[in-house]
Amino acid sequence: MPRQLFVTTALPYANGHFHIGHIMEYIQADIWVRFQRMQGHQVHFVGADDAHGAPIMIAAQKVGKTPQQFVADIAAGRKPYLDGFHISFDHWSSTDSPENHALAQSIYLALKDQGLIDVRPIEQFFDPEKGMFLADRFIKGECPKCGAKDQYGDSCEVCGAVYAPTELKNPYSALSGATPVLKTSDHYFFKLSDPRCLSFLEQWTQDGKLQPAVSKKIKEWFTKDENGEGGLGDWDISRDAPYFGIEIPGAPGKYFYVWLDAPIGYLASLKSYFSAGGPKAKYGEARSFEEFMADPAVEQVHFIGKDITYFHTLFWPAMLQFSGRKLPNQVNVHGFMTVNNGEKMSKSRGTGLDPLKYLSLGMNPEWLRYYIAAKLNANVEDIDFNKDDFMARVNSDLVGKFVNIASRAAGFLAKRFEGRTTAALGDEGQALLATLQAGRAGLVELYEARELGKVLREIMLLADRVNEYVDANKPWELAKQEGADARLQEVCTVCIEAFRLLSIYLKPVLPAVAANVEAFLKVEPMTFASAEQLLGEHTIGAYQHLMQRVDVKMLDALFEPPPAPVVEAPKPGGEDIAPTITIDDFVKVDLRIARIVNAEHVEGSTKLLRLTLDAGEGRHRNVFSGIKEAYQPEQLIGKLTVLVANLAPRKMKFGISEGMVLAASHADEKANPGVYVLEPFPGAEPGMRIR
Ligand SMILES: [Zn+2]
Repeated sequence: MPRQLFVTTALPYANGHFHIGHIMEYIQADIWVRFQRMQGHQVHFVGADDAHGAPIMIAAQKVGKTPQQFVADIAAGRKPYLDGFHISFDHWSSTDSPENHALAQSIYLALKDQGLIDVRPIEQFFDPEKGMFLADRFIKGECPKCGAKDQYGDSCEVCGAVYAPTELKNPYSALSGATPVLKTSDHYFFKLSDPRCLSFLEQWTQDGKLQPAVSKKIKEWFTKDENGEGGLGDWDISRDAPYFGIEIPGAPGKYFYVWLDAPIGYLASLKSYFSAGGPKAKYGEARSFEEFMADPAVEQVHFIGKDITYFHTLFWPAMLQFSGRKLPNQVNVHGFMTVNNGEKMSKSRGTGLDPLKYLSLGMNPEWLRYYIAAKLNANVEDIDFNKDDFMARVNSDLVGKFVNIASRAAGFLAKRFEGRTTAALGDEGQALLATLQAGRAGLVELYEARELGKVLREIMLLADRVNEYVDANKPWELAKQEGADARLQEVCTVCIEAFRLLSIYLKPVLPAVAANVEAFLKVEPMTFASAEQLLGEHTIGAYQHLMQRVDVKMLDALFEPPPAPVVEAPKPGGEDIAPTITIDDFVKVDLRIARIVNAEHVEGSTKLLRLTLDAGEGRHRNVFSGIKEAYQPEQLIGKLTVLVANLAPRKMKFGISEGMVLAASHADEKANPGVYVLEPFPGAEPGMRIR
């Protein structure tokens, strides 16, 4: 009977794009999922955006979007990362989905029916300008222990003290700068300290299903100190409006704290996958989501980072248990990923590993899948991305030991035997292939246990055996020998058979390479069961290069700090110079010196002065000019200026304007007010042309 697996990764908070930590977790889970599928098991692998909470509400406000639009825009950017690194989610949803609203409310009501919800007034800082209660991270002030300024409401970054926000000295709202006031509000609590919860969790977290380090950590959380402090407290699950989240039924103006509905999003995403018909299309699943989840044979498996262990091993199983739902079968906790010897990741210093930059540089996503897998084990350990280590593992192991086996053998088979392999193998070749086939059982166990580093070490040991065989039998020398054709075909066949077996074992890690191998060898999609049979007499296709080596220049480019922001060229007078014209264009404009014979206000106009101009034509011109704010009429009378003399006369409200007087101003007149009429150097006379 195939296993039925419901697999999730932690839901990424929808306030930013994926970073390398997300990609590491997805690669870990994806390898495990692909392994299970290759074993013939049924897997529903789902994810979702974690959409709710104050930080998203505030980030959306800042950029003038609704939180829904903000989250949708982030979600729209997920695909290039997931496709780029071959992450094979079956479905992706959001915790703001109708399914999640309904499930969160129904789970809450079930907990309430169990008598596990309590309402208590609590005193909390309130921002009087924003009209909202402030989460700890939106309150700042001076540390009550060391006096350091600008510390967050929960802990001091200078001395490490942990405190309540109400203990901060001179607190202020990080949102508005206002001094917060203490205000009382009713909050809803999940009674984790209830004896039923305690005894359930003590058993569930210590019965061996969790990683040993995780069970040990949880035990510390359970334990009260000699003063009776510590231990499991009740969990505050409500937040007051305004809040982007799910309303608590029967409690107007109260919303679920984002961490209540986030893990429920796992179920909601699966439910939405069922509604979309995914399981039916893939496995002919006839049951509804509810029927599926009621089946005790279904296994629920979570992959998470160590920072969210508390939520996933205490709150989450307790919520499920006391709302009568299936419990997680596995909560697989991994460590963090650091880059280049644990340097703190910082984009500005260029030490981070930007996943999209990695892809945009043309770096092979399977190098990173292989490298991360090589570093991972089943423990809660941090792993480090190291440039030199990355080069060595990809170039010497993956390309040098694995890919090269095929490239060395395929050419001879194509050139000399029309791509045909043979079933007639000698003892040495048969023994080698039997060793490789026998390796499968151990690899399956290691994959199942998420010991990915050991998986790859074992596979590379097998690859070493194959390379020893190649070096001992030297197909390139056989190719030169008279009458050694059969021997050459046999040795090359052993290489191709071995390469195929190794490809099967690596397929969960290298899905795209495996697909190319399947095309090259002309075989059906490989599963672990494919390793039971050899190709025997078979015709393979033309070999095409399966993988390049890592070029150190790519790694240098990957970690090169981003270029300094481009300083924009100054815009003269607040605007770019107009497009180039020719001298022919310029001479179309007839500019003449004119004397201002008279200037006067225009009745009813706040902007215009009426100018009477003498441009040496033997007559005067009447010109309206928008310079009233800048000049008194008497300042202008008798002065020389510049007239656009061949501008078509324009009928205005106050009369006909016969030309235009030139004046200078800044493009942004509001920020840089001032209008300046042009005046020629002494000696110019009315009627002279400007050229
Ligand atoms: Zn401090």
